[in-house]
Amino acid sequence: MRSAGIFLGEPGWSKKVNYVDGRGTGKVNKLPGIVVRRISMLKDKDIFTQAVHSGERSPPPDFTPVSTPVYNASTYFYTSMDDLDLVFAGEKKGYIYTRYGNPTNKALEEAVATLEGGEAAYTFSSGMAAIHTALLATGLKKGEHVVASHDLYGATYTLLNTLFRELGIHVHFVDISNPETVEETIKREKPKTVIFEVISNPLLKVADVPHIVEIAHREDAEVIVDSTFTTPYLLKPLDYNADYVVHSSTKYLGGHGDVLSGVVVCSEERRNILYELTKMLGANLGPNEAFLTLRGIKTLPLRMQRHCENAVKVADALTRNPRIERVIYPGLKSHPQHILASEMFRKDCYGGMVSFEIKGAGKKEVFAFFEALTLVLLGTSLGDIYSLILYPAHSSHRALTPEERKRIGISDGLVRLSVGIEDAGDIIHDVEQALDKI
Ligand code: PLP
Repeated sequence: MRSAGIFLGEPGWSKKVNYVDGRGTGKVNKLPGIVVRRISMLKDKDIFTQAVHSGERSPPPDFTPVSTPVYNASTYFYTSMDDLDLVFAGEKKGYIYTRYGNPTNKALEEAVATLEGGEAAYTFSSGMAAIHTALLATGLKKGEHVVASHDLYGATYTLLNTLFRELGIHVHFVDISNPETVEETIKREKPKTVIFEVISNPLLKVADVPHIVEIAHREDAEVIVDSTFTTPYLLKPLDYNADYVVHSSTKYLGGHGDVLSGVVVCSEERRNILYELTKMLGANLGPNEAFLTLRGIKTLPLRMQRHCENAVKVADALTRNPRIERVIYPGLKSHPQHILASEMFRKDCYGGMVSFEIKGAGKKEVFAFFEALTLVLLGTSLGDIYSLILYPAHSSHRALTPEERKRIGISDGLVRLSVGIEDAGDIIHDVEQALDKI
């Protein structure tokens, strides 16, 4: 059956093509939805019609671009209603509408799933959208329980502590670096969902991923691991049987401070749940953002290698600086989970985040230090090629009272540095000269 829409092709047209999306080669006469662009077909049409239709809907190319193009299409055209019907029914592969899927997003999903060693992935408009949808995908409903790390990223903590609580979900925050408390809480509360970050922010506590997944699964809970700080370069939570791996790909995966995006990696079955939820929630990633994130991923291992090497050098220099009270970095032997991190992470890689406390400093001294920096940028993000510094007491943990911050170990002299990929010596020099100005 052919649609009544404007058809600018030749009925008998067929061509052998190499598909750009990995489907190999084929003959496009099997895809009557592809309309041949023919100048002659529009020759006798009015300029209003020509302007609208010329240059569009050309057949699939018989060339393969080395990189995935940005498919800036909100909808996809079919001339055969039977084909469209099959695609709607999920019996034939194809795209209908970008909220249901987009080839650029699909390429990014394939890339992240490959790097994480997962079956499938789903992309989102932000890390928070990815986390929110993954939480819903675990089947959380009124009356059910969630066990969550108490030092989750601020917005994740607030999402659970406000929206989810208000929906009647019981949320139990625990110190994820304390295995006894975690085990005891999971056994007692029998949660539907367990959620934590591999490396916490800003105190950089390291979670025992295999242990937590095991005890959660014993109680039939699904586990969501936020691996934003670690990336698949350091560890792959699916290797330890996590159910969902989430990323704010705004951070290391994108890596260049130019895109907001999120991704969840999981089984095909779970991806389907995310897909059905996103059809309703609509927190889809735009194809331009998918392209930028995919491009960032090309250099993820190179950047991560450099972030890790630089962070070790920065942490080491800071431990020798008389103005520094303490340095927190999983790569330092003084870090409480250094051995665990060494066992779980890629050899000699501990990430690019370093936190440190300036001796006797409060807001005034920290502000003076920040303003004296000339290379390291004051910015709330992390995981970029640029070195970025943040003051938790006035940003991520601003809502807490000084006493509350002190109780969880965030003093007014604590700063968090996301070590970039610049020259390590230049970063160290900048931090040291700024410390001297306090
Ligand atoms: N998870 C972690 C660990 C983060 O640090 C962030 C943001 O900083 C998020 C999730 C949220 O990501 P986004 O800002 O992309 O929504």
